[in-house]
Amino acid sequence: KPVVAIVGRPNVGKSTIFNRITGERLAIVEDTPGVTRDRLYSRAEWLNREFHLIDTGGIEIGDEPLLTQIREQAQMAIDEADVIFFLTNGRDGVTGADEEVASILRRSKKPVVLGVNKIDSYEMQEKVYEFYSLGFGSVFGVSGEHGLGLGDLLDEVVSLLPDEREPEYEEDTIRMSVIGRPNVGKSSLVNAVLGEERVIVSDIAGTTRDAVDTVFEKEGQEYVLIDTAGMRKRGKVYEATEKYSVLRALRALERSDVVLVVINGEEGIREQDKRIAGYAHDAGRAILIVVNKWDAVEKDDKTMSQFTEKVREEFQFLSYAPVLFLSAKTKQRLQHLLPAVKEAADNHNLRVPTNVLNDVIMDAVIMNPTPTENNKRLRINYATQVAVAPPTIVLFVNEPELMHFSYRRYLENKLREAFHFEGTPIKIIARKKN
Ligand code: GDP
Repeated sequence: KPVVAIVGRPNVGKSTIFNRITGERLAIVEDTPGVTRDRLYSRAEWLNREFHLIDTGGIEIGDEPLLTQIREQAQMAIDEADVIFFLTNGRDGVTGADEEVASILRRSKKPVVLGVNKIDSYEMQEKVYEFYSLGFGSVFGVSGEHGLGLGDLLDEVVSLLPDEREPEYEEDTIRMSVIGRPNVGKSSLVNAVLGEERVIVSDIAGTTRDAVDTVFEKEGQEYVLIDTAGMRKRGKVYEATEKYSVLRALRALERSDVVLVVINGEEGIREQDKRIAGYAHDAGRAILIVVNKWDAVEKDDKTMSQFTEKVREEFQFLSYAPVLFLSAKTKQRLQHLLPAVKEAADNHNLRVPTNVLNDVIMDAVIMNPTPTENNKRLRINYATQVAVAPPTIVLFVNEPELMHFSYRRYLENKLREAFHFEGTPIKIIARKKN
């Protein structure tokens, strides 16, 4: 999906606008405990066009002076976005910092839409005119607080989005991508895998050019490796912001069946690892946790199980993801990777027979009765799988609100005991039976 970045100096109202456009997804339907979330990225939609919205203002770059920060945020928007939404404050008029940002944006060839915020009433509209001096053709007075003018502005933004054509593959080709924080060994892993296998086509670039796809074959199975790591720019800004930027990874995992979440075994698990893994989980992809640099770890016969325990503790929301230990450098245990990818992909697409599914659910209910609330008991009438990738199961019940997190978790565990769901999340939806 294309990317729209909001740029502007602090206090012009970027996050208010951001929340307006994204519909404030604060009440995420399936909030996952243990996932740290920043609200800098979100999916948004306007006139049936979907895009990623990114608030560059929330991305702090070290503790550099404000103007440097603003400049670097603008630069990042230029690097990452298809359309830039430059926001200013109509009450302050054009400031020096606005001019600074404008001159950086003008030099890039990226389309820019200029919003003048805090135009809360019709009378204030005249405050907009001076902003034409910044040199952008499209200028819109808006009010983030009252939601005024945003529609027209978004019409313009959407009209400037590029037509995206991502490469397409055969139905049974397994699409995989590699994500993780800097230096965990993503590029090394990509190279190690591709170095071993028979490459069929390489360097297939999407129109967005933020990833390179390589098709290869192993034992009659075709795989595509979607590589964002190798595309990384080694510039100062990028190095600094990559700590926070998972945008490319997000776009790659949207196109993936299986996501390899790479962790540095030498350094252990960091907060950022969890955040990145959270994105993969939210996207509903099959996931493998790859502990890399295992060659560099001093170990005895307990090290692996201890590390696995640690992973389980830190990534509780990924209890379904197998943990693989390997070394991209020495290729130690690398042979286990593709079979695990294949299995996770198969499970991601698993369809279970309805009668067996219902037997499993009914047995589970007998062993551990459904929750009650105010003398009302949850009753599950019927279960059916409505989708794959990830497997999605609908339970028709009397009162969906009675389906508590812990009971849902219990049912999920029972389903996992009964079926091969290793590596894939499963969705359980309680729906009111009419
Ligand atoms: P990326 O930023 O995640 O793509 O990481 P790179 O692939 O660039 O690797 C970062 C550093 O870790 C490089 O110096 C690699 O040589 C090193 N590295 C990568 N994989 C391994 C590994 O399996 N073992 C060891 N000892 N070093 C590794």
